[in-house]
Amino acid sequence: MSVVRVEHVYKDYLLGEQRVPALKDVTLSIERGVFLAIAGPSGSGKTTLLNLIGCIDTPTRGKIYINDQDVSGKTPDQLADLRARTIGFIFQTFNLLPVLSAAENVEYPLLQRDDLTKAARQRRTAHFLDIVGLTQFAKHRPNQLSGGQRQRVAIARALAIRPAIVLADEPTANLDRVTGQEILQLMKKINRRFKTTFIFSTHDRRVMKMADRLVKVEDGEIAMLAMRANSKWSKVREGRRITAEGSNGHPDTQVRAEAAP
Ligand code: ADP
Ligand code: MG
Repeated sequence: MSVVRVEHVYKDYLLGEQRVPALKDVTLSIERGVFLAIAGPSGSGKTTLLNLIGCIDTPTRGKIYINDQDVSGKTPDQLADLRARTIGFIFQTFNLLPVLSAAENVEYPLLQRDDLTKAARQRRTAHFLDIVGLTQFAKHRPNQLSGGQRQRVAIARALAIRPAIVLADEPTANLDRVTGQEILQLMKKINRRFKTTFIFSTHDRRVMKMADRLVKVEDGEIAMLAMRANSKWSKVREGRRITAEGSNGHPDTQVRAEAAP
């Protein structure tokens, strides 16, 4: 089953009188549990696509389905509720609240969940701080933490809602290479352990190589989609329609053994 479906999505921005087409006829289906990289140069539409999947923004045309629910008809309140229960976000600049401790930052998105008691929130916070290896930094403020540690807090915060999907917009762009690799490895470990779907954008070839699905975006269009099986990359195409679910034995699907990234 697809956790995300994007169908013939267009997104235009208005810059004064000028229309900027950021996405053009993007169709994509993302299978549950994948570790998917959206790759492309700056300005190609990666953030726009992540914001649409994350229900932070709405398409100009086309439909987005999350867990088979069409999100286009939903009210802002319904979308906020969907986000609060289903989607975790990780940002390039970490976006932690500077006046809160690491633990308070992780707990923060749980405060709007009235189904959780204070004790339940704190158990979860401790659990996810432990998973990212920051138990002993629980009381530290962001400015007392390194970049890698800050991104670990952000990962714990994203996971705390137990999301089906984690969206990460260039999560390693503000980190040095080694720390970036460690953050990706942590995300991958969580992806395997909890079967959480990770969708992250990057323009770093080393980062895209860690994915098991790759969507290449160019000028607002999907230029290529590839998947990895048995450590080999293969391109996956179905005419104009491209699916992240692999070949599935579909006769129209051409799977060629190519080193995709
Ligand atoms: P990327 O994340 O790959 O760098 P973006 O999705 O941020 O790309 O941007 C895609 C295109 O849309 C670019 O041409 C960018 O200038 C334009 N764009 C993005 N956000 C806005 C906005 N709020 N207003 C106008 N144009 C925008
Ligand atoms: Mg971007």
